[in-house]
Amino acid sequence: MSDLTKLTALELSEKLEKKEISAVEVTNAHFERIESLDNKVKSFLYLDKKGALTQAEDIDKARKENKSLNKLAGVPLALKDVLTQKDIPTTCGSKILENWLPPYDSTVVKKLKNAGVVILGKTNMDEFAMGSSTENSAYFPTRNPWDLNKIPGGSSGGSSAAVAAFFAPLSIGTDTGGSIRQPASVTGIVGAKPSYGAVSRYGLVAFASSLDQAGPFARTVLDCAMLHEVMAGHDPLDSTSINEKVPDVVKAAKTLDVKGMKIGYIKELGGTGWQTGVINRFNETIETLKSLGAIVTEISIPHSVYALATYYLIAPSEASSNLARFDGMRYGLRVDDQNLSAEEVMNKTRAKGFGKEVKRRIMIGTYALSSGYYDAYYAQAQKVRALIAQDLKNAFKEVDVLISPTSPTTAWGLGERVNDPLAMYLADLATLPPSLAGIPAMSIPIGLADEDKLPVGLQIIAPFMQDDRMYKVAATLEASLKDKWNGLLIDSIPDLKVASHG
Ligand code: GLN
Repeated sequence: MSDLTKLTALELSEKLEKKEISAVEVTNAHFERIESLDNKVKSFLYLDKKGALTQAEDIDKARKENKSLNKLAGVPLALKDVLTQKDIPTTCGSKILENWLPPYDSTVVKKLKNAGVVILGKTNMDEFAMGSSTENSAYFPTRNPWDLNKIPGGSSGGSSAAVAAFFAPLSIGTDTGGSIRQPASVTGIVGAKPSYGAVSRYGLVAFASSLDQAGPFARTVLDCAMLHEVMAGHDPLDSTSINEKVPDVVKAAKTLDVKGMKIGYIKELGGTGWQTGVINRFNETIETLKSLGAIVTEISIPHSVYALATYYLIAPSEASSNLARFDGMRYGLRVDDQNLSAEEVMNKTRAKGFGKEVKRRIMIGTYALSSGYYDAYYAQAQKVRALIAQDLKNAFKEVDVLISPTSPTTAWGLGERVNDPLAMYLADLATLPPSLAGIPAMSIPIGLADEDKLPVGLQIIAPFMQDDRMYKVAATLEASLKDKWNGLLIDSIPDLKVASHG
């Protein structure tokens, strides 16, 4: 039965539909694997075995009664601990929310439950989604299933590791500046950040509201698209939600054809400082796309070189404002040991409850928003953001999609960058421009780097609300790399053998 963990969501869904297997069996098989191996990977913060099995039983019952069910009904999923799930601990990887039980479901969770997706538990993350390695979690770091001494990416590293380690065929992450794409890249899986506003942010604990977007992780492009379809859609509870039809990403993920498609690789994203193995796989991918009939050209996004500086002003500014709500009065932790004033309680609670990186961001953001510096920093960053978005818009007049490596390097060693925040921020170099522009982007695995045998990701970027375009390119490439790549993922990780060599 443990073989069930090696199947894709689509394969599980087909077997469930034919009643060859039950949702309870599928759920148990995944918990068994988690229970035997997650002590090494540490991808989960909380397991909801009882809730998951109840959900699975309900699905099995509905199927027996021949009720019409969603394709993903009975398929297990791991959920990033930044989305609220009623009565299930939601910590955002922070001590300040330890023991907090949300009184409501986020819209994403509601949609998953309605589709009958079985939520196994909540995954580890960098505190309030600030980081690129999951080492900023206040609880423990998560490890990369490819090599337990390497980082699984971040901030959604618990979710990426869970899928790469076959603990679940699907998981959900959130991406503010790259937190779905970069973890997908370094763990060798597929991850997509939908167009901003396509997936509801209701119940997604805010980091930087103008950038935050939840999205799917999976081991195949089609699985990723199926989850994308379930998550997306207009929500009146989110004022930035787009009231438009969700692009048909599932159909696109079944369209294996890039003939005549115009693809631009971004000139500024590569070159010195980028890992050789990453660049090698990227260059090969360009050749593959050409051989598949695509027209590939170089495109300049001149202002993208300012994306890092721009993002690290805008995101902390919004964070400093969003995180003001954790005041020791409303949620989670309260330090109130003596007879303290409200202000003192607030002060002590925030001092104790927030970690180093969160405090750093609050300070940068508060500074950038302060009256004397607002125009010089925050307002200026917003102007540059507009220029980056305009560059990307111009590029899409010439090409259908843009590509780049997802991240400058493969997974680095645990601990290697914890004392060097700037080195950590550099991991986001390629993922930031589409985030700032609010456009969709995804990462798919394109092979292993020669020097360390670790996964390399390709980023595919599409125009706003044209998410289907990136899925088409992703699916076509995936099919062409199948013999070389898919087998590799299955053979390398199941028993976490790779991990022991580090
Ligand atoms: N690594 C980036 C940061 O630390 C992006 C995080 C994210 O997308 N949530 O802010």
